[in-house]
Amino acid sequence: MLTDKEFIRYQRQIMLPEIAEVGQKSLIESSVLIIGCGGLGCAVAMQLAGAGVGKLVLCDDDVLEESNLHRQLSYRESDLGQPKSEALAKHVRQLNSMVSVRSVNRRMKFDSLMLEASMADLVVDCTDNFATRQQINKACLAKKTPLVSGAAIGWDGQLVYFDYQDNGPCYHCLYPFTEDSEGGKCSESGVMGPNVNMIASLQSMYAIQALVKPEMIQAGQLMVFDGRTLTQHKFDIAKDDACNICKKGSKS
Ligand SMILES: [Zn+2]
Repeated sequence: MLTDKEFIRYQRQIMLPEIAEVGQKSLIESSVLIIGCGGLGCAVAMQLAGAGVGKLVLCDDDVLEESNLHRQLSYRESDLGQPKSEALAKHVRQLNSMVSVRSVNRRMKFDSLMLEASMADLVVDCTDNFATRQQINKACLAKKTPLVSGAAIGWDGQLVYFDYQDNGPCYHCLYPFTEDSEGGKCSESGVMGPNVNMIASLQSMYAIQALVKPEMIQAGQLMVFDGRTLTQHKFDIAKDDACNICKKGSKS
């Protein structure tokens, strides 16, 4: 069912029993929306393109700055000043011409977010602020599109997967606010490059698992990573019965 070209290209991945030919076919037939093309998003896009995810939509309204390059390794110095979503789409095409890629070079309004989420099999949240993260959670919940959410700041990282099934928790149950705390941005508090790339790799791993074998992932579990000590902890997120986003009958 795979073409010879696909089989040769992805053979090391197909050899994994959890992926196999059927899993590779699923990846090729999948569409993933990546929101944010900074440190997390640029690495996730390249890894998913490498794995053969058939369709990627890359969304970001920023241009590449010199201070991004220490951690955003998918870009080159020649991309400076270019819109990130477009530069990243170019690098994705150069890596894997079998992947269809579309860039969205603007901050999406909620209606567009809902539309894009409904067309995707999975959304990967690679943004850097709570307001956008809450909007993405809301859209994914409404469209029942699974969400891989990652964050990395300083030496710290977080990762969580929501499948929005079985009355589980949502992002708003975990963080019921939209304002960023002081120093909650890379521009204010600094960021360790390999820490960002590690969280991006874990997001990519979750994304592949979610598309091929979602039962491999414990949905609604928060992983917290400390890059100083290379330790991680996992916590089950409690569903907030008063959450105004995911509680039954909620209209917001
Ligand atoms: Zn909730």
